[in-house]
Amino acid sequence: MTSDADCLFCKIVAGSIPSDRLHDDDLVIAIRDIAPRAPTHILLMPRRHIASAAELTDADGPMLGRLFSVAADLARSAGIADGGYRLVSNVGLWGGQTVDHLHVHLMGGRPFDWPPG
Ligand code: AMP
Ligand code: ZN
Repeated sequence: MTSDADCLFCKIVAGSIPSDRLHDDDLVIAIRDIAPRAPTHILLMPRRHIASAAELTDADGPMLGRLFSVAADLARSAGIADGGYRLVSNVGLWGGQTVDHLHVHLMGGRPFDWPPG
């Protein structure tokens, strides 16, 4: 499915719901999280609707390569690359996923615990 009519992030990708967009290309977009849990909290997501990381296949390799390289670029521009940062993608109920469109959180600007709570 390219886009899901009921999906919040598909609407953000399409621009029908506003977002603070930091990056936009043919495969991925990056937006500021609306409820940041760290000084830098960015969400990276594919333009195409993919419910979660559990739905990925080999064919998504180029999109994932782009997503992670854009994450590294954004971390550098946000000034958090040297200190280190967290990339995380929650999957399903127990993983803490609340929006069922694959996204990776890029969080930085403070230290993080391991393992997460
Ligand atoms: P997750 O809980 O891993 O599925 O992450 C969903 C994230 O989306 C949360 O960090 C929310 O704060 C964020 N979020 C929800 N609605 C919006 C929105 N309209 N714009 C930007 N971020 C959002
Ligand atoms: Zn979607």
